Amino acid sequence: MLTADQVLVKQINKAIVLNTIQKNETVFRAEIAKKTGLNRSTVSGLVDELLADGLILETGIGISQGGRKPVILSINRNYGSIIGVDCGVNYILIVLTNFAGEILLERRIPVSAADLPEERIGLLKQLIQETINSAPSSVSGIIGIGICVPGIVNYEEGLILQTPNLNWHNVPLKKIIQDQFQIPVLIDNDANAGAIGEKWFGLGKKATDLVYLSAGIGIGTGVLIKNELYRGASGLAGEMGHVTIHMHGRRCSCGNIGCWEEYAAEKALLNFISENIGNYPATGFLDKHHIGQLTVFEIVQAAKAGDPLSIAALKHIGQQLGIGVANIINTFNPSTVIIGNTLAVAEEFILDELKAEVKARCFTAKYYPITIVCSALGIYAGAMGAASLILSRVFAAPVTQQKL
Ligand SMILES: [Zn+2]
Repeated sequence: MLTADQVLVKQINKAIVLNTIQKNETVFRAEIAKKTGLNRSTVSGLVDELLADGLILETGIGISQGGRKPVILSINRNYGSIIGVDCGVNYILIVLTNFAGEILLERRIPVSAADLPEERIGLLKQLIQETINSAPSSVSGIIGIGICVPGIVNYEEGLILQTPNLNWHNVPLKKIIQDQFQIPVLIDNDANAGAIGEKWFGLGKKATDLVYLSAGIGIGTGVLIKNELYRGASGLAGEMGHVTIHMHGRRCSCGNIGCWEEYAAEKALLNFISENIGNYPATGFLDKHHIGQLTVFEIVQAAKAGDPLSIAALKHIGQQLGIGVANIINTFNPSTVIIGNTLAVAEEFILDELKAEVKARCFTAKYYPITIVCSALGIYAGAMGAASLILSRVFAAPVTQQKL
C-alpha cells in the first residue's frame, strides 16, 4: 500500500516520463531513465502503465547497444482529439487536432465585430457541434475544448471580463460551453494562448523565457518566465497594448489615452494610410476610397506589388511595434520575442524596422543574444494556442495540475 506522498511522487514521475516521450517524439526506456535521472525499473513500470492507459504506443524496435534491442515509444496520436478555437474580433477559426497537435480539421469564417455576445456564442456552439460530429474516433474522444479571445479573462473561472474590441462584459463562456457539450473547457486571452502555442508547436520550443506579442486589431502579450505563463496577482498580466506611450495621445477603447496599441496595431496602420494618402503616388493597388475596410492582408499584397504608401505604412508600424518591444525587453529580459496575429503576415516589411528600433532604444538588448521573429504558425497561432491550453493541462505534473 502506497502512502499519499508515494502516490504523488509516482504521479509526478509518470508525468515526467510522459513529457519526456512527448518532447523527444520517439524514445526508449533506457533513454528516458538517462534523461530524467529516474531508475530503469521505475521508468519501465511507469511506461507499462502509460501503455495500458493508451497514452503512448510501442512504435518499433531500435538498434541494440549490446543486449536486447530497445522498444521505441511514442505519444499515441490517436489517444484523443482537441478542439482549439480562436474567437477573433472579425473571424472565428476552429481546429480539431490529434493528441500530437496535428490539425485534422479546420474552419475559418468571417463574422461581424458588432455581433451581440449571444449571437456569437450561438455560432460558436454550432461550429463546435459540427466539429465534434466530424471528428474521427479515438481512444478517449474529444479531450477538451480550448478557446482564446481578444480581451481580459479570469482564467480559473473561464469568465471573459471584457473584450474592448468586441464589447463583451462578464461572459461566463467556460460554463456556457461546458454545460452544452459536457467536455472540459479552458478559456484564455489570445496572447497567453499564443505564448503557450509557440512553446508547444512554434518557434519558442527551446525558449524558457519568451514573450509572445499578439499584434492585430489590438495588442496583447503572453509572457513565459522559466516555462510558466506569468499571469500576475489576478490573472490580468500582459496587457502591454495599454501601456501609455503618449501622455496626451489618442483616446483608447480601454478608457486611457496614448496607449501603445493606438499607435502600433491595425487601426494605426489604417490611420497612417488615410493621413498620408496625398503624399504618395497613387498606384491603384489600394482601394483608397474605402480605407476603413482595408485588411492587413490587402495592404501587404499592395506593398508586395510595390505600392509606396503601403510599404511606408507597414514600415511605420514596424517602428511603432519596436518602441513597445524595446520596453518589453528592458522589463522581462526574454530570450525570444515572437510577433504573432495578423501583423505577422507583414514580416518582410515590419521586422527589420522593428529590430532597428529595438537596437536604437533598448538598454539591455545589446548585452545578450535575443531572438526576435514573426510566428511561423501564421493564422493558426491563436487556435493552436487554444488547443495547447488543453494539452499543457493534460501533460502537466500533478502538483500543478488542476481539474480541467
Ligand atoms: Zn488602452
